[in-house]
Amino acid sequence: MPSPRPASTAPSLAPAAAAATLFAPMKLAIADDHVVTLHYRLTLDDGSIADQSFGGDPLVYLHGHRNIVPGLERQLIGRLPGDKLEAVVPAAEGYGEYDPTNEQTVPRNAFPPEVELKVGMSFQTRARNGQTIPVWIRAVAGDQITVSANHPMSGQRLNFQVEVLEVRRATAEEKKHGHVHGPGGHHH
Ligand SMILES: [Zn+2]
Repeated sequence: MPSPRPASTAPSLAPAAAAATLFAPMKLAIADDHVVTLHYRLTLDDGSIADQSFGGDPLVYLHGHRNIVPGLERQLIGRLPGDKLEAVVPAAEGYGEYDPTNEQTVPRNAFPPEVELKVGMSFQTRARNGQTIPVWIRAVAGDQITVSANHPMSGQRLNFQVEVLEVRRATAEEKKHGHVHGPGGHHH
């Protein structure tokens, strides 16, 4: 005599587990000392695209080491791979407010003679304490060249569109150096 089938319909893991992956690895959220891979587009308030990685290699950076503008870094905390977001960053948290006292007019012969000087070109100079600082040409008027230590995008609100691609923990060496090693990072 056949035994009756058990009436119980208690869930069993086996059939579902065979049909689909039940346990995916934990996604790491963006936090200090994590290496983040992302695509971004930076649009200024006039609608112009100042910079973007979409269509090219993504940006790879070490989070929490001021490798990107502070306002964007702050708004990325807790984001996960796959997240898409818009981040509006005021100038003060971007490339800084424009400081007119950070400007200087110098004679043409302060620059290498063979270089054709154009607005927006960057050079480096030394501060009184010996530190190297970047400067940008702001105006060219004959022999008088105005240089500015303000970043060309200072005073501007930055509108970022971001797609987070990957997040991983930084290695001890990356943390010590303050930057990413390997693909998209430093090779040394
Ligand atoms: Zn390094």
